[in-house]
Amino acid sequence: MSSSSPLRLVVFGRQGSGKGTQCKLLAERRGIVHVSTGDMLREAVSDDSALGRRVREYVEAGDLVPDELVIELVTDRLGRVDAKTRGWVLDGFPRTLEQAEALLDAIRPDGITLAIELVVPVEVVVERMKGRGRSDDTEEAIRRRLELYERETVPAVEMFAAKGLLARVDGVGTVDEIAERVEHAIDERLGKVGSPR
Ligand code: AMP
Repeated sequence: MSSSSPLRLVVFGRQGSGKGTQCKLLAERRGIVHVSTGDMLREAVSDDSALGRRVREYVEAGDLVPDELVIELVTDRLGRVDAKTRGWVLDGFPRTLEQAEALLDAIRPDGITLAIELVVPVEVVVERMKGRGRSDDTEEAIRRRLELYERETVPAVEMFAAKGLLARVDGVGTVDEIAERVEHAIDERLGKVGSPR
């Protein structure tokens, strides 16, 4: 991979893993576009746009929005000139194997630079989420999203792992500590630091 090609990153992590925070910081540090499907969908719902009216029920219940809707949303976003030139980090997408395959299809022949999974035990995320207070964070919705991560998203994570494109990063620690681990994983992928053999 040429070092001048823009970064194309995917960040996985169950609810409350700190994924949103890390993606935002990562995008600022690297000057890449932060693409959060959760933010885009919540915004559509609060604007009561045509898309918002189609997805409201799913988002409020913590259910997955149908693949074709999110795939179109993300494909359009990644096709815009800022994403194409600066690179991007995907936050909350892909959430299913089908979405992962659609992503790789849409960005052919480039592929992604790296997928990162922030690994945080369930007990820790449940504690963290109690203080968050987002409107779609009812107890039922939280439980539903945790379940869906195991069932639907883990297969997508495994697909990237099988391709040698996954870095698992310990997501327990301070925001700065985790950010440093994320940077290290990216640098290692770009060949900027030697990985111990
Ligand atoms: P998040 O902020 O990533 O937790 O997303 C909030 C909600 O938006 C989720 O509970 C889903 O209802 C919906 N959502 C976000 N990303 C996706 C996706 N990739 N596929 C399906 N639904 C999604």
